[in-house]
Amino acid sequence: MSEARIVYQGDRLWLFAGPLPEVQAEVSLTLPEGILVERVAEEHPLPEGVEALGLREAFDRLDPEAWARAGRAYQWLEWEAGHRFCGGCGRELAPGEGHSLECPACGLTVFPSNATAVIVLIQRGEGSARAWALARSPHFKPGVYSAVAGFTEPGESLEQAVHREVAEELGLRVQNLRYFGSQPWPFPNGLMVGFTADYLDGELKPNPDEIEDARWFTRADLPLLPSALSIARWMLDAALAESDQG
Ligand SMILES: [Zn+2]
Repeated sequence: MSEARIVYQGDRLWLFAGPLPEVQAEVSLTLPEGILVERVAEEHPLPEGVEALGLREAFDRLDPEAWARAGRAYQWLEWEAGHRFCGGCGRELAPGEGHSLECPACGLTVFPSNATAVIVLIQRGEGSARAWALARSPHFKPGVYSAVAGFTEPGESLEQAVHREVAEELGLRVQNLRYFGSQPWPFPNGLMVGFTADYLDGELKPNPDEIEDARWFTRADLPLLPSALSIARWMLDAALAESDQG
Protein backbone atom coordinates (compact mmCIF):
# COMPACT_ATOMS: atom_id res chain seq x y z
CA MET A 1 0.00 0.00 0.00
CA SER A 2 1.27 3.44 -0.87
CA GLU A 3 2.64 5.30 2.14
CA ALA A 4 1.09 8.59 1.20
CA ARG A 5 -2.46 7.60 0.33
CA ILE A 6 -5.25 5.63 1.98
CA VAL A 7 -8.53 4.91 0.24
CA TYR A 8 -11.76 3.67 1.78
CA GLN A 9 -14.95 2.57 0.12
CA GLY A 10 -17.56 2.75 2.88
CA ASP A 11 -15.83 0.92 5.72
CA ARG A 12 -13.67 -1.20 3.43
CA LEU A 13 -10.02 -0.39 2.94
CA TRP A 14 -8.53 -0.59 -0.52
CA LEU A 15 -5.44 -2.78 -0.62
CA PHE A 16 -3.18 -2.24 -3.59
CA ALA A 17 0.40 -2.78 -4.60
CA GLY A 18 2.08 0.00 -6.51
CA PRO A 19 0.59 3.27 -7.65
CA LEU A 20 -3.17 3.62 -7.60
CA PRO A 21 -4.90 5.40 -10.51
CA GLU A 22 -6.77 8.61 -9.75
CA VAL A 23 -10.16 8.03 -8.16
CA GLN A 24 -13.30 10.13 -7.86
CA ALA A 25 -13.27 10.73 -4.13
CA GLU A 26 -16.45 11.84 -2.33
CA VAL A 27 -14.45 12.86 0.71
CA SER A 28 -10.80 13.65 0.99
CA LEU A 29 -8.78 14.84 3.95
CA THR A 30 -5.17 15.05 4.96
CA LEU A 31 -4.02 13.58 8.25
CA PRO A 32 -1.81 15.82 10.44
CA GLU A 33 1.23 13.81 9.32
CA GLY A 34 0.44 14.56 5.68
CA ILE A 35 -1.15 11.32 4.51
CA LEU A 36 -3.96 11.79 2.00
CA VAL A 37 -7.13 9.88 2.92
CA GLU A 38 -9.94 9.45 0.42
CA ARG A 39 -13.34 7.85 0.54
CA VAL A 40 -14.98 6.78 -2.71
CA ALA A 41 -18.66 6.05 -3.32
CA GLU A 42 -20.04 2.54 -2.80
CA GLU A 43 -20.69 2.23 -6.54
CA HIS A 44 -17.18 3.30 -7.51
CA PRO A 45 -15.68 0.57 -9.69
CA LEU A 46 -12.80 -1.33 -8.13
CA PRO A 47 -9.64 -0.61 -10.15
CA GLU A 48 -7.73 -3.59 -11.42
CA GLY A 49 -5.45 -5.09 -8.79
CA VAL A 50 -7.31 -3.48 -5.88
CA GLU A 51 -9.01 -5.42 -3.11
CA ALA A 52 -11.54 -3.89 -0.71
CA LEU A 53 -11.42 -5.41 2.78
CA GLY A 54 -12.91 -4.60 6.17
CA LEU A 55 -10.33 -3.37 8.68
CA ARG A 56 -10.49 -6.54 10.76
CA GLU A 57 -9.89 -8.68 7.67
CA ALA A 58 -7.08 -6.39 6.56
CA PHE A 59 -5.21 -7.02 9.84
CA ASP A 60 -3.62 -10.22 8.54
CA ARG A 61 -2.52 -8.52 5.33
CA LEU A 62 -0.73 -5.45 6.62
CA ASP A 63 2.17 -4.88 8.94
CA PRO A 64 1.02 -3.54 12.34
CA GLU A 65 2.15 -0.02 11.57
CA ALA A 66 0.28 0.15 8.26
CA TRP A 67 -2.79 -1.35 9.90
CA ALA A 68 -2.71 1.19 12.71
CA ARG A 69 -2.33 4.00 10.17
CA ALA A 70 -5.32 2.72 8.19
CA GLY A 71 -7.35 2.58 11.41
CA ARG A 72 -6.33 6.11 12.24
CA ALA A 73 -7.39 7.28 8.78
CA TYR A 74 -10.74 5.58 9.30
CA GLN A 75 -11.27 7.37 12.62
CA TRP A 76 -10.63 10.76 11.01
CA LEU A 77 -12.99 9.96 8.13
CA GLU A 78 -15.70 8.84 10.52
CA TRP A 79 -15.25 11.84 12.75
CA GLU A 80 -15.64 14.19 9.81
CA ALA A 81 -18.62 12.26 8.41
CA GLY A 82 -20.35 12.55 11.80
CA HIS A 83 -19.74 16.28 12.15
CA ARG A 84 -21.19 17.85 9.05
CA PHE A 85 -23.65 20.08 10.90
CA CYS A 86 -23.52 22.26 13.96
CA GLY A 87 -24.88 20.54 17.09
CA GLY A 88 -25.92 23.95 18.44
CA CYS A 89 -27.88 25.50 15.56
CA GLY A 90 -27.88 22.97 12.73
CA ARG A 91 -25.94 25.00 10.13
CA GLU A 92 -23.33 23.30 7.99
CA LEU A 93 -19.87 23.37 9.60
CA ALA A 94 -16.87 24.83 7.79
CA PRO A 95 -13.13 24.26 8.28
CA GLY A 96 -11.87 26.16 11.34
CA GLU A 97 -8.44 26.70 12.81
CA GLY A 98 -6.08 23.79 13.01
CA HIS A 99 -8.05 20.60 12.52
CA SER A 100 -11.28 21.98 13.87
CA LEU A 101 -14.63 22.61 12.23
CA GLU A 102 -16.49 25.81 12.95
CA CYS A 103 -20.05 26.97 12.63
CA PRO A 104 -20.29 30.16 10.53
CA ALA A 105 -23.57 31.10 12.23
CA CYS A 106 -23.05 30.63 15.97
CA GLY A 107 -19.28 30.14 16.17
CA LEU A 108 -19.39 26.70 17.80
CA THR A 109 -16.05 24.95 17.25
CA VAL A 110 -15.57 21.21 17.33
CA PHE A 111 -12.27 19.40 17.49
CA PRO A 112 -11.58 15.86 16.37
CA SER A 113 -12.34 13.54 19.28
CA ASN A 114 -12.86 9.93 20.12
CA ALA A 115 -14.74 7.86 22.65
CA THR A 116 -12.59 6.65 25.53
CA ALA A 117 -13.18 3.15 26.81
CA VAL A 118 -11.49 1.15 29.56
CA ILE A 119 -10.68 -2.52 29.45
CA VAL A 120 -9.63 -4.44 32.55
CA LEU A 121 -8.07 -7.83 33.04
CA ILE A 122 -8.90 -9.07 36.55
CA GLN A 123 -6.79 -11.72 38.19
CA ARG A 124 -6.83 -13.65 41.45
CA GLY A 125 -4.80 -16.45 43.00
CA GLU A 126 -1.19 -17.49 42.56
CA GLY A 127 0.77 -20.14 40.67
CA SER A 128 -1.35 -22.75 38.90
CA ALA A 129 -4.43 -21.47 40.77
CA ARG A 130 -4.12 -18.03 39.18
CA ALA A 131 -7.34 -17.25 37.34
CA TRP A 132 -8.66 -14.41 35.19
CA ALA A 133 -12.25 -13.17 35.03
CA LEU A 134 -13.22 -13.26 31.36
CA ALA A 135 -16.58 -12.59 29.80
CA ARG A 136 -18.28 -13.07 26.49
CA SER A 137 -20.52 -10.61 24.77
CA PRO A 138 -23.18 -11.97 22.40
CA HIS A 139 -21.27 -10.21 19.55
CA PHE A 140 -18.11 -12.30 20.02
CA LYS A 141 -17.24 -15.23 17.80
CA PRO A 142 -18.36 -18.56 19.30
CA GLY A 143 -16.18 -19.70 22.21
CA VAL A 144 -14.26 -16.42 22.60
CA TYR A 145 -13.99 -14.79 26.05
CA SER A 146 -12.22 -11.52 26.80
CA ALA A 147 -11.50 -8.92 29.44
CA VAL A 148 -14.44 -6.66 30.26
CA ALA A 149 -14.59 -3.24 28.65
CA GLY A 150 -16.86 -0.22 28.57
CA PHE A 151 -16.99 3.43 27.65
CA THR A 152 -16.16 6.13 30.14
CA GLU A 153 -18.96 8.53 31.00
CA PRO A 154 -18.64 12.33 31.00
CA GLY A 155 -17.02 13.54 34.19
CA GLU A 156 -15.57 10.17 35.12
CA SER A 157 -11.91 9.26 35.62
CA LEU A 158 -10.48 6.15 33.98
CA GLU A 159 -10.19 4.51 37.40
CA GLN A 160 -13.81 5.28 38.26
CA ALA A 161 -14.88 3.84 34.92
CA VAL A 162 -12.99 0.63 35.64
CA HIS A 163 -14.61 0.17 39.06
CA ARG A 164 -18.07 0.98 37.70
CA GLU A 165 -17.78 -1.33 34.69
CA VAL A 166 -16.45 -4.21 36.77
CA ALA A 167 -19.29 -3.79 39.27
CA GLU A 168 -21.98 -3.40 36.59
CA GLU A 169 -20.87 -6.15 34.29
CA LEU A 170 -19.48 -8.74 36.68
CA GLY A 171 -20.68 -7.80 40.17
CA LEU A 172 -17.09 -7.73 41.45
CA ARG A 173 -14.86 -5.25 43.22
CA VAL A 174 -11.19 -4.90 42.27
CA GLN A 175 -8.08 -3.26 43.70
CA ASN A 176 -4.49 -2.42 42.68
CA LEU A 177 -5.30 -1.05 39.23
CA ARG A 178 -2.21 -0.99 37.04
CA TYR A 179 -2.01 0.82 33.73
CA PHE A 180 -1.13 -1.58 30.93
CA GLY A 181 -1.25 0.51 27.76
CA SER A 182 -3.70 1.88 25.25
CA GLN A 183 -4.86 1.26 21.71
CA PRO A 184 -6.77 3.39 19.22
CA TRP A 185 -9.82 1.27 18.43
CA PRO A 186 -11.22 2.17 15.02
CA PHE A 187 -14.57 0.36 15.38
CA PRO A 188 -15.53 3.07 14.83
CA ASN A 189 -13.91 5.78 16.94
CA GLY A 190 -12.54 4.56 20.24
CA LEU A 191 -9.47 4.80 22.38
CA MET A 192 -9.13 1.70 24.53
CA VAL A 193 -7.22 2.16 27.79
CA GLY A 194 -6.06 -1.12 29.34
CA PHE A 195 -5.66 -1.92 33.04
CA THR A 196 -4.92 -5.01 35.02
CA ALA A 197 -6.44 -5.37 38.48
CA ASP A 198 -6.56 -7.75 41.41
CA TYR A 199 -9.80 -9.26 42.59
CA LEU A 200 -11.00 -7.79 45.90
CA ASP A 201 -14.40 -9.33 46.62
CA GLY A 202 -17.81 -10.20 45.24
CA GLU A 203 -19.42 -13.14 43.51
CA LEU A 204 -18.96 -13.33 39.71
CA LYS A 205 -22.41 -12.49 38.42
CA PRO A 206 -22.56 -11.41 34.75
CA ASN A 207 -25.02 -8.70 33.79
CA PRO A 208 -27.38 -10.39 31.29
CA ASP A 209 -27.99 -7.10 29.45
CA GLU A 210 -24.40 -6.99 28.23
CA ILE A 211 -22.79 -10.33 28.90
CA GLU A 212 -23.73 -13.83 27.86
CA ASP A 213 -21.37 -15.62 30.23
CA ALA A 214 -18.43 -14.85 32.50
CA ARG A 215 -16.12 -17.21 34.36
CA TRP A 216 -12.82 -17.50 36.13
CA PHE A 217 -10.39 -19.27 33.83
CA THR A 218 -7.03 -20.72 34.82
CA ARG A 219 -4.24 -21.37 32.35
CA ALA A 220 -5.28 -25.04 32.26
CA ASP A 221 -8.81 -24.30 31.02
CA LEU A 222 -8.47 -21.17 28.89
CA PRO A 223 -11.23 -20.47 26.37
CA LEU A 224 -10.61 -19.12 22.86
CA LEU A 225 -8.96 -15.73 23.21
CA PRO A 226 -9.60 -12.56 21.19
CA SER A 227 -7.65 -11.85 18.02
CA ALA A 228 -4.08 -10.55 18.16
CA LEU A 229 -5.29 -7.21 16.79
CA SER A 230 -6.75 -6.16 20.14
CA ILE A 231 -5.23 -4.87 23.36
CA ALA A 232 -7.37 -7.48 25.16
CA ARG A 233 -5.18 -10.16 23.63
CA TRP A 234 -1.93 -8.29 24.36
CA MET A 235 -2.97 -8.07 28.01
CA LEU A 236 -3.81 -11.75 28.18
CA ASP A 237 -0.57 -12.76 26.46
CA ALA A 238 1.41 -10.61 28.91
CA ALA A 239 -0.47 -12.05 31.90
CA LEU A 240 0.15 -15.60 30.73
CA ALA A 241 3.84 -14.91 30.13
CA GLU A 242 4.15 -13.37 33.60
CA SER A 243 2.44 -16.31 35.28
CA ASP A 244 4.87 -18.61 33.40
CA GLN A 245 7.77 -16.93 35.10
CA GLY A 246 6.53 -17.37 38.52
ZN1 LIG B 1 -24.06 26.76 14.94
